[in-house]
Amino acid sequence: MKYNFPVTKTTSPKEKPNPDTLKFGKTFTDHMFIMEWDKENGWNNGRIIPYGPISLSPAASVLHYSQQMFEGMKAYKHSDGRVVLFRPDMNAKRTNRTNERMCIPQMDEELFVECVKALVEVEKDWIPTKPGTSLYIRPFIIADDAFLGVHPAEHFMFMIILSPVGAYYALTGDGLPATSIYVEDEYIRAAPGGTGFAKVGGNYAGSLKAQEKATQKGCSQVLWLDGVERKYVEEIGTSNAFFMIDGEIITAPLHGTILPGITRDSVIALLEKWGYTVKQERLAIEDVLKAGQEGRLQEVWATGTAAVISPVGKLCYKEESLTISGGKTGPLAQKLYDTLYGIQTGNVVDDMGWTVEV
Ligand SMILES: *Cc1c(COP(=O)(O)O)cnc(C)c1O
Repeated sequence: MKYNFPVTKTTSPKEKPNPDTLKFGKTFTDHMFIMEWDKENGWNNGRIIPYGPISLSPAASVLHYSQQMFEGMKAYKHSDGRVVLFRPDMNAKRTNRTNERMCIPQMDEELFVECVKALVEVEKDWIPTKPGTSLYIRPFIIADDAFLGVHPAEHFMFMIILSPVGAYYALTGDGLPATSIYVEDEYIRAAPGGTGFAKVGGNYAGSLKAQEKATQKGCSQVLWLDGVERKYVEEIGTSNAFFMIDGEIITAPLHGTILPGITRDSVIALLEKWGYTVKQERLAIEDVLKAGQEGRLQEVWATGTAAVISPVGKLCYKEESLTISGGKTGPLAQKLYDTLYGIQTGNVVDDMGWTVEV
C-alpha cells in the first residue's frame, strides 16, 4: 500500500447491531475516515478517527450553497472470510466526474480506493454476513470554508462513514417482491446542463416533494420523466430504470440528466454477455403504457447499490395504472439479482473481474 493513514482507536467501542433488525443507514460503525484539501497541500492529512460529530463554522459554504458530493458503495464478507468491494474504481472515477462539475478538486483514483480500503479494514468486524446484509460505505466531500459569497471554496473535507445494512427485501425464498411506482409528471429531477449526472445532495433535496406525492398515492418510488418535455422515462427514485419490450431491453442514455449507475453498467454488461440487445435510448412513457396495454411490456426493474435490482410490478401515471408481469418479479430481473448479488457475496464465480479484495 502506497498510503499509510494513522488510526486513532475509539476508547468506547459500540455493540454490534442485531443482523435481523438492521435498517438502512441508521447504525454507524466505531470509526470514520477524514482528509482535507487546501491549495498548498492538495488532499492531505488522511486519518482514521473515532466516529463522531465534526465541527463546522455556521458560515461553512456547504451549509448555504451545497458545494458538496457523495458516493455510495458496499463491502461484503465472503464465507471464506475475504472482504471485497464491488468495482470501487468506478466510484473513484464517478467522484472525479462529479467533482469536476461541482468545482471540487480532483482526487487521485487510487487514493480514493485506498481510503475506502483502509477504513473497511479497520471496521471489518462490522460487516454483517447474514444473507441480504452488507456494509454500506458513504464517502462524501463538503466545502467547509467560512464565507458567505457564492464562489468555489478553497478548503474541503473528504470523509467516509460506514453503516451495516439489512436485507433490502424480506428474503422469503419466493423471490424479490415487486414495487409500485408513481410516474411524476409535474416536478423534475434534472435538466440538460444541470447536475443530474453528478451525485450531489441538491438533486435529492429537490426530489423529496415528489417522493411525498408517490407515498400518498401508495407507491414506493417516483419514476422521473425528462425535464424538458416530461415525456421520456429517466430514472426510478435513486436508481436507474430498465424496460423490457418485445424481448429488447431499453434504458435511458447517459446524456447528462441520468446518474451513471455502476449497477446499471454491470447489468448492461451481463445482459449483453447473455446475448440480449440493450438499447440506451430515449423511451416515451406513452410507449411504455401502450406496450403494456398490448401485452408487449415484459419486465421493468430499477438498479442501484442499495437494492441491487428492484423489480416493478405496477406503474401509476395520471389516472391510469398498469400492472407489469402480473404484479410479480419477472424472471430476468430475478436472474440479474441472483447473478449480481451472487458475485458480490462470493456465491457466483466473478468472471467479470468486478470484486476487489480489501
Ligand atoms: C446512486 C444513484 C443511482 C445508482 O447508482 P449505483 O452506482 O448503481 O448505486 C442511480 N440514480 C441516482 C439518482 C443515484 O443517486
